[in-house]
Amino acid sequence: MESSKPKHVALDFDNTLAYFEGGREGIFDLFITLNIPRDVVEVAYKATKRSGGFNIDKLVDEIEKILKKSIDEVKVKVLFSKWLERSLKLYPDTEDLVANLKKKGGSFSIVSVGDQSYQEQKIKLLGLNPVSINIVPTVGDKPTILQKLVLETGRPIIYIDDKATELDSIRKCLNEEDVQTIRIIRDDSPYKEEKSKYKHKEITNLGEVKF
Ligand SMILES: [Mg+2]
Repeated sequence: MESSKPKHVALDFDNTLAYFEGGREGIFDLFITLNIPRDVVEVAYKATKRSGGFNIDKLVDEIEKILKKSIDEVKVKVLFSKWLERSLKLYPDTEDLVANLKKKGGSFSIVSVGDQSYQEQKIKLLGLNPVSINIVPTVGDKPTILQKLVLETGRPIIYIDDKATELDSIRKCLNEEDVQTIRIIRDDSPYKEEKSKYKHKEITNLGEVKF
């Protein structure tokens, strides 16, 4: 009988592998020292999310649009880099998953929604070394990438995400023989209350994933 044990795990990034200590809202406080009100930053941040995902250049542009004047971009970037390095952390069980995969000869990739350069910056900062990094612009774009990964690595593969609707969009397009969907329950996930339409295996620790 053909072995059906997965050897490849594809994972979402934010609140699946990594999180911001103190929350992603920490970014809003960076601008207080520049006398830019928090509510201005929040509105600007939401605008970047609507236009292909957040990055710091877009945030500066949006803030300048609202304030109708230029701000100290160099200073903003220094503050932002320091905040990122200080706050972005791997969940402890991410390292357990990576170690388990290594022991069993498996591999992992990252499939994330957002701005290409910012997502890559975060992944590199944490020293993760996936076989591939796939950044898609919007929610619901992941099935095409997963189909490609199945063809490259052999089926089945596992896909893990904290967002129920992303898992649903994958199950809608790809069957269980190709992609096994797993929801990681994270207390600090912004999608903790999302309900899923399809049934997905649920775990609270990436170390629980079996190969
Ligand atoms: Mg996520």
